This record gives sequence, C-alpha cells and structure tokens, in this order.
Amino acid sequence: MNYSYSRISGYFTCARSWWHRYVNNTPTKKKIFADDALICGSAMHHCIQDGVDEGLSYYEKQFNNYIGDRHVNEELKFIHFGTPLNDFFGEHQHEIKLKSNDGFVGFIDDYDENTKTVIDFKYSNNRSYLSSPQIHLYKYFGEQQGLEIDKLGFLFVPKVAIRQRKTETLDSFRERLMETMVSKTPEFIEIPYNEVKIYNFMRDKEIVEDVYNNHSDEIEYFPCDPDKKFCRFCDYQYYCIIQKYGINDGKDIECEDLY
Ligand code: SF4
Repeated sequence: MNYSYSRISGYFTCARSWWHRYVNNTPTKKKIFADDALICGSAMHHCIQDGVDEGLSYYEKQFNNYIGDRHVNEELKFIHFGTPLNDFFGEHQHEIKLKSNDGFVGFIDDYDENTKTVIDFKYSNNRSYLSSPQIHLYKYFGEQQGLEIDKLGFLFVPKVAIRQRKTETLDSFRERLMETMVSKTPEFIEIPYNEVKIYNFMRDKEIVEDVYNNHSDEIEYFPCDPDKKFCRFCDYQYYCIIQKYGINDGKDIECEDLY
C-alpha cells in the first residue's frame, strides 16, 4: 500500500470517510460552492507558486468557467494575497515529490534552497496545523532522498470569510472586503523538527495498514454521526445523512438543504 499523510491521518479523523475514499472509491455527492475550501486552497497555492493568473485560471476551470459575483469575491482574495506572496515565494522550488522505498508519497509545497527551508502553505486561520506531523515527515523523507533541510515552517494566508449583508450593495460589500483584507497579514511560523512525530506516524501507519489489508469491509459499518462539526466539509456526508435519517425518496439531495 502506498501511503501519504492524508491517507493515514484520515482514518483517525473519520474511519467511515476513509473507507469511502480509499477502499470503496465512493463517488462524491457534494454541491460545490464558490468558497469550497479544497478548491480555494488549491487556487491560492497556484497563485503563490505559479502566479495569480495561473491561480485564477485553475479556479475558474473548477466551475467550468462560470464566474458569478461570489466567485469574483473569492478571486479578489486570491489577487490581494497571492500577488505579493508570489513575488516572494515564486522563485523557490515547488511541489517536490517525495517517494520512499516503503511507499510513502508526499509533495513539498515550497523549498527555499538558499535557507534550506521547507514551507507548507495553508490558506486557513486554523493554527491546529502546527501540531500536525505532516511537515516533519517532509523533512524525514526529504532528507532520505538527498534534500538538505534545516528549517520547517508554515505560511498561513488569512481566510477572510465575511458575507454580504442584506442592507449592503455589492460595491459596498467589496469595499468592506478590501478593508478587511488590508487589515490581515500572512504569517510565517517556524517550527522545530520533532522526531517523535515520525515514530507516532509510523505506528499509526501499521494500524491503518492492518485495517486496509485485513478488516476494511468492517469499516463500512462503523458508527457515524454526520452532525459533527467537521462533517460539513466531508465529501461523503450525503451517504451518512441518508443512513442516519433514512431520507431516501429517490431524489438527489444537497447536504446543505438539510440544515
Ligand atoms: S459525514 Fe461525518 S461521519 Fe460521515 S463520513 Fe463524513 S466525516 Fe464521517
């Protein structure tokens, strides 16, 4: 089994979601909104790494080039934060593929050869990433394939999530959006390498490998609660809601319609 950080950690976040993604290859049934976290995160990555034009082009392709007002609002954020960040980080190496002999696969977002720094981009206000083993794994496996890595750090790009008020015109909302963005600054946070995180990850990998090879069919029946906070971001929430609430009248439903 090839393994990645997401493939192992995903099992411990929700075994049911992990089963859908990695065992059953379940098709997703998710309505995609203009502020979809995965699409916006990838678009911001492209803006920083390849330039804002590339980021906008990637974003628009995800919506078959249909761009409404809400999409433009997201694009203003890509332009505002992506332009100066591309000036700073654009010259570094990006998307360096890591592949170990025992099957680890990962991609380093940003490597600065001069300072020997690995940087992970996060388009998020959530600082819980700081305790993730992911970037430690990049140093561990990166050094195995010859990269020199002295420093690790995260670049947090602020997520501005204000909404247009009912009393507000689109123009005045966008003015307020710009003012809010100007008040926020991307933050680079360096973290010390921690080898214990590698040990713990490898232990988790053994557990997930055992489940995948010997018990994967049982996971389909794991108890689940689709009302957990993080379920709103899950690609498979549709299936859990059908199962929990028995809503199945033969029509497609959007998970958001149930709230
Ligand atoms: S909706 Fe929630 S419980 Fe169901 S698979 Fe997704 S994360 Fe797991």
